[in-house]
Amino acid sequence: MQPLIIIGAGLAGWTTVREFRKLDAATPVMLITADSGDFYAKPSLSNAFAQGRSPAQLVSTPAAKLVETQNVTLRAHTRVRAIDPVRRVVTTSHGKFAYRDLVLATGAQAMRVPLAGDAAGSVLSVNSLQDFSAFHARVVGTDSSQNHSKHIVILGAGLIGCEFANDLAGAGYRVSVVDPAERPLAALLPAQAGEQLQGALAELGVTWHFGCTVRAVDQNPDKSDPALRVSLSNEVQVLTDTVLSAIGLRADTALAQTTGLACERGIVVDTALQTSDPHIYALGDGAQYASAGGRTLPFVMPIMSAARALAATLAGQRTELVFPLMPVTIKTPALPIVVAAPAPGLAGQWTSNDPGLWQFMGAENRQHGFVLTGQHTARRGEQARLVQV
Ligand code: FAD
Repeated sequence: MQPLIIIGAGLAGWTTVREFRKLDAATPVMLITADSGDFYAKPSLSNAFAQGRSPAQLVSTPAAKLVETQNVTLRAHTRVRAIDPVRRVVTTSHGKFAYRDLVLATGAQAMRVPLAGDAAGSVLSVNSLQDFSAFHARVVGTDSSQNHSKHIVILGAGLIGCEFANDLAGAGYRVSVVDPAERPLAALLPAQAGEQLQGALAELGVTWHFGCTVRAVDQNPDKSDPALRVSLSNEVQVLTDTVLSAIGLRADTALAQTTGLACERGIVVDTALQTSDPHIYALGDGAQYASAGGRTLPFVMPIMSAARALAATLAGQRTELVFPLMPVTIKTPALPIVVAAPAPGLAGQWTSNDPGLWQFMGAENRQHGFVLTGQHTARRGEQARLVQV
């Protein structure tokens, strides 16, 4: 029997394995991944500093344990280079493997903007445990008495940028955040909620540089500490030890595209997570879901729903994916926030009669989303019941 092959050992890959094994203990499953296959909760990367957790401590289940409990063949440190959808064979850095069905759980890539300067190559981004290990080593240094980074510049005041800003500032580092918008999370939150977050993080010591971008990152010409000089588009210069780019993620469609699968903002999948090839499925940060009106949904909750539906389909019961309402918790302890965003482009407006609650109201006074801040985050259940999905 040819195996079910899953590419990717992130939340999407491993959750699909777990859900599939609940329904089918017999079909051979092979998981192929470019990384070690160890399981970690990616959201923990942006609150590890304040908790004093090292990269190694973030692994929640070692790959060897999953291989044993889930009865899978793991091909770790193995990159899939090509897929032959006619012969149903994948070509990897360590050989070829035939499949019955294939799941692409290949995630997203951190977006990068081209920067000028002789130290532009030193800019880091974090979208995996491996990335986080490199960032952690840079920030903490090998000799903490000499090399301890004191100042980190973060590019991007979106979700991940704000979470890292809170985490690092909470752990005692100086943090500056640069963003072309006027306030943090400008694309996600109503203005007043963004201003609340801006104030809360400023109180924690975060310095904001809004309305500008980073133009160049150079070695500090003084050749003294700190090591880097960041030049902003408004002519301001900031001396810093480390620069973290957190300007967003883009679905990784490279492999799907070379296979000839339909791709737009992500790998296009129908309501049963099938790609344009009947034996290839996709989910996770790399997928563009018909069940979400053609959106990508790079969050944990959509992956859990998608993996359950996909496992049932792969076990022989074609299952349509229906997403429930999926509010996102933003891990900024300085101002906890819960957001249930309305679908992009939906007509309506944010209204608020309360400093910690915003409701997105559309036609016929229907509620399509909400934002809760501070102690109001406890009202998540109450607000979720009011939203028309
Ligand atoms: P990934 O975890 O990126 O996994 C992709 C896998 O594919 C990897 O194992 C990779 O090695 C493998 N791979 C890729 N290409 C190949 C190839 N060609 N061959 C072999 N293997 C390949 N979401 C929330 O809902 N709440 C949060 O609080 C939250 N916090 C976050 C904090 C941070 C810092 C980040 C970066 C994300 C956060 N998210 C959060 C988003 C959430 O973590 C992601 O949506 C989720 O982890 C994505 O899982 P994935 O399996 O789709 O992708």
